[in-house]
Amino acid sequence: MTPSAVADLSSGSVTIVADLLFDGSGGPPLEDPVVTVEGGRIRDVRQRPQRWSQPTEEVHDFRGCTIVPGLIDPHCHLALDPTLAAEDSIAFATGASETEIVSLMERNARLAAASGITTLRDCGSPGHVGVAMRQIALRSGGAHPRLLVSGRPITTPLGHCHWMGLAAESGEELREAVATLAEEGVDFIKVMATGGMMTHTSDPFSAQYTSAQLTELVSEARRRNRRVAAHALCAAGVRAALAAGVNTLEHCVSTQGAPQDHDPSLDAAIADAGIIVGLTAHGPMRELLRAGDTKTIRERLAPHRRMLEAGVELTVHSDGGTPGSHFDAFAESIEIFRLGLDTSTAEAVRAATSSAAAALGIEDQTGLLAAGMRADLAVLDGDLGTDIRALRRVVAVAQEGQMNRPRERQA
Ligand SMILES: [Zn+2]
Repeated sequence: MTPSAVADLSSGSVTIVADLLFDGSGGPPLEDPVVTVEGGRIRDVRQRPQRWSQPTEEVHDFRGCTIVPGLIDPHCHLALDPTLAAEDSIAFATGASETEIVSLMERNARLAAASGITTLRDCGSPGHVGVAMRQIALRSGGAHPRLLVSGRPITTPLGHCHWMGLAAESGEELREAVATLAEEGVDFIKVMATGGMMTHTSDPFSAQYTSAQLTELVSEARRRNRRVAAHALCAAGVRAALAAGVNTLEHCVSTQGAPQDHDPSLDAAIADAGIIVGLTAHGPMRELLRAGDTKTIRERLAPHRRMLEAGVELTVHSDGGTPGSHFDAFAESIEIFRLGLDTSTAEAVRAATSSAAAALGIEDQTGLLAAGMRADLAVLDGDLGTDIRALRRVVAVAQEGQMNRPRERQA
């Protein structure tokens, strides 16, 4: 994004017009929308009347385009380089200086912002770079998405992502780890309830903690007003995290390929507890999309279709930063959600906007295009109603009061 392409929507009243608008609720789109923004907030969203006289105030005319809420990727790792293999990525995260890691995070954040992401939740970074990067993003004038960061994820001594630097095992250690992170200023707690794919000393298909241990962690997090995101790739980990009352289940079941260890008898309890599940549409899934392998995508998302039927609220994330999961292709993740779960385009947009905002606990601020919400929105070239690939053609992104234009329209 070049600075010359920035428009300031934070003072006065600004009107944005387009051909179509998805408000993020999952409902049908609005034709000929007029969005009025005042002081960085949405004042009004309505249909353009037949005899509409253009206001005298500033107007951004995006006819031929679709407006969606600013996208929210609820699970990324800005401190990881998606072009590296797991071992090289770990070597970088453990060997590079904090300055080097932060400059990688800035590069990744810029790619995410240019692809329409206005809020990004960072689910694990080494050392103290998470909170540092959040402050840099705050001052970036919309060049980076707004960040919510977990800092170091909590894990067992040789467990998943132990190389990020925070191991805890007993109830007392877990409470202490939460206290340390809260004092450092993290926004939420990320815990590794099972092993993971990137860490060879861990087992993705067994639980790292008992439900009693996770209950200690969750109660300390609640006491400190922090939500808990639990990474889980197998049913035993899901069971423990569910019993402990975490806020979100990350992955819930592996989409990497076989085996898939999912216990459908837990689906109703996940829905009843209001736990939001994050579907992983990462590099390996995007490769299937590019190869046109719909069959395998649908096989891997069969557990998620059952969860959806059981009433579980689902979000979609890129797991950006893990091998092959690039920061400029979130559109493909949303396409995978729609294709694999048989949803409407509006429901897929909802997973990446208002559902994601709810997962992060910021649904009163963003994720929906409605009066009073932050003016976070993305403008897509074309008709998203008939062409989901319009998500790949972001022509403008507004974050609160700043509008950037990452790309010229194709005429
Ligand atoms: Zn992750």
